[in-house]
Amino acid sequence: MRFSKIFIPTFKEAPKDVVLKSHEYLVRGGFIQQIGSGIYHFLPLGKRVLDKIKSIVKEEMDKAGANEVALGFVTPASLWQKSGRYQRYGKELLRFNDRKDNAFVLGPTHEESVTELVRANVKSYKQLPLHLYQMNIKFRDEMRPRFGLMRAREFIMKDGYSFHSSFEDLKREFDLMEQTYSKIFSRLGLDFRAVFADSGAIGGSGSKEFMVLAKSGEDTICVCDTCQYGANLEAATRKQVMPSTDAPQAEFAKFHTPGITSIEALADFFKITPFWTLKAVVKRAIFDEGRSALVYFFLRGSDVLNPIKALNAIVGANELVEASQEEIKEVGLIPGFIGPFALRNLTNSPYIYFDKELQDAKSLICGANALDYHFVGVDLSTFEGLEYKDLIEVQVGDLCPVCGVSKGGELYFTKGIEVGHIFQLGTKYSSAMDATFLDEMGKAQPFVMGCYGIGISRLLSAIIEQHHDEKGMLWTQATTPFSVDIMVSNIKDSAQLEMGEKIYTALSAEGIECLLDDRGERYGAKIADFELIGLPFGIIVGKGLEKGEIEFVRRKDLSKQVLKVSDFRALIAGLKEWISKCH
Ligand code: ATP
Ligand code: MG
Repeated sequence: MRFSKIFIPTFKEAPKDVVLKSHEYLVRGGFIQQIGSGIYHFLPLGKRVLDKIKSIVKEEMDKAGANEVALGFVTPASLWQKSGRYQRYGKELLRFNDRKDNAFVLGPTHEESVTELVRANVKSYKQLPLHLYQMNIKFRDEMRPRFGLMRAREFIMKDGYSFHSSFEDLKREFDLMEQTYSKIFSRLGLDFRAVFADSGAIGGSGSKEFMVLAKSGEDTICVCDTCQYGANLEAATRKQVMPSTDAPQAEFAKFHTPGITSIEALADFFKITPFWTLKAVVKRAIFDEGRSALVYFFLRGSDVLNPIKALNAIVGANELVEASQEEIKEVGLIPGFIGPFALRNLTNSPYIYFDKELQDAKSLICGANALDYHFVGVDLSTFEGLEYKDLIEVQVGDLCPVCGVSKGGELYFTKGIEVGHIFQLGTKYSSAMDATFLDEMGKAQPFVMGCYGIGISRLLSAIIEQHHDEKGMLWTQATTPFSVDIMVSNIKDSAQLEMGEKIYTALSAEGIECLLDDRGERYGAKIADFELIGLPFGIIVGKGLEKGEIEFVRRKDLSKQVLKVSDFRALIAGLKEWISKCH
């Protein structure tokens, strides 16, 4: 392709309010252009990258046995009413009516559409499993579209949906998709982790996110310094923490602790570490139709409650909010002295949860539900019917749940960009939408479903967030719009232009994608564009040609090599070898 013929509007200045380098460079480099808030055009360079990403995704998805389709973007609202999401989805769902006053939505995701498609066409277990995917436009009316393609309103997603006759088969597909996604992101040249994600009611390993590691990532992820373990904060677990100090030696007793209302003060008072104290956290849970109730969480004084784990512990709760001291006093409790003794009787609450690391914990000190008193020598194994849940937020330095014992791996936090999400949906949508098949016994069963997303357009931003320098972008081998930028320093010099054309023709014939900068621009402008656009290699045909020399530049480190053109065939063979090896 010739630079003079391809539409690449580049800019020296960054657009206003730009925060991320990927946003700045993609716009300045002429890859994308904004047309409205969170809505972007893809220009030729951006489109080429998009197509490269899509073709890798397609290759790997097809290899895994999935079928590509293209589902209607405008979706009848009736489908969303059937699943119940028409009301629930919130303002991100753009709802509108047509001229006949029929209601529609712009698809932010396509579980409803695909479930209806399969419901109408798949009747028997013999037709399963089935995996349908597409790479198509999505619309989400995001509250704060930002960072260019990273959080757009209109964006491109690969969304796949699989249908199974059993949970075992879904698990098999889920594992296959985990492998497939790993191949895709490796081929794209990305440093990434597959992390356990919160999957609400489904729990366990029902959901994984693929995170591109980048300082600018919006998500905090918890990873192991030794193995591949990774998880979102709300899904991260650890090897159970063991005491680092001796247990306080005390028989069970009520102790006068005047004015001791914090964990620090309590630990100080008894000369113990907070590990041996029991912390009570009281919140208000909001349920459907505005019903609310106080909820009680207990964890070791040395631990911190994770709000999402806490919310997931309560069946049916939609939100947790702070509980005021007054609300707590109203139910007869004394802030600072709350403990598990007689709590159920006092409060009448069914919502009392203990962190699972407290299972059968002994030698604890906790509030006595009486002003200025704590109990010492508390043994939780003597309580009956305590409900244990994973409630704690892991901390830097906690031991990895996978290799903490065998290899001493420690957890730390890093930042990631979510580029993919795989999810074991189960029968959530099929049950709601009456989508059933006949099993081997001839009995109607709801399809067991999985869904699998990749942020195709977000990937452009993610690649650049991970691969750029202060001058511009650094495309990876698999995603670069062209491999080489052949810059003719001065097109008025016919020898230079001729040599540029000759190299362009020869390399193109070798299957190398070249951009020939044959514009009447200054040399400086060409180099600046080369650095900004970030093709992996440049060839400079300039003054040196008088001595029979050209320059070969590697974009990554801007290192230069002078090459002789006298033996042209050897030159092309050498260039070809470097280009394939030097990435
Ligand atoms: P996020 O947490 O970033 O809002 P999500 O969890 O809502 O994303 P999914 O529903 O899992 O997103 O969608 C699948 C993929 O689509 C995501 O992993 C992400 O890469 C991409 N994606 C989601 N929302 C956007 C957006 N507003 N702009 C660009 N890509 C997006
Ligand atoms: Mg997600």
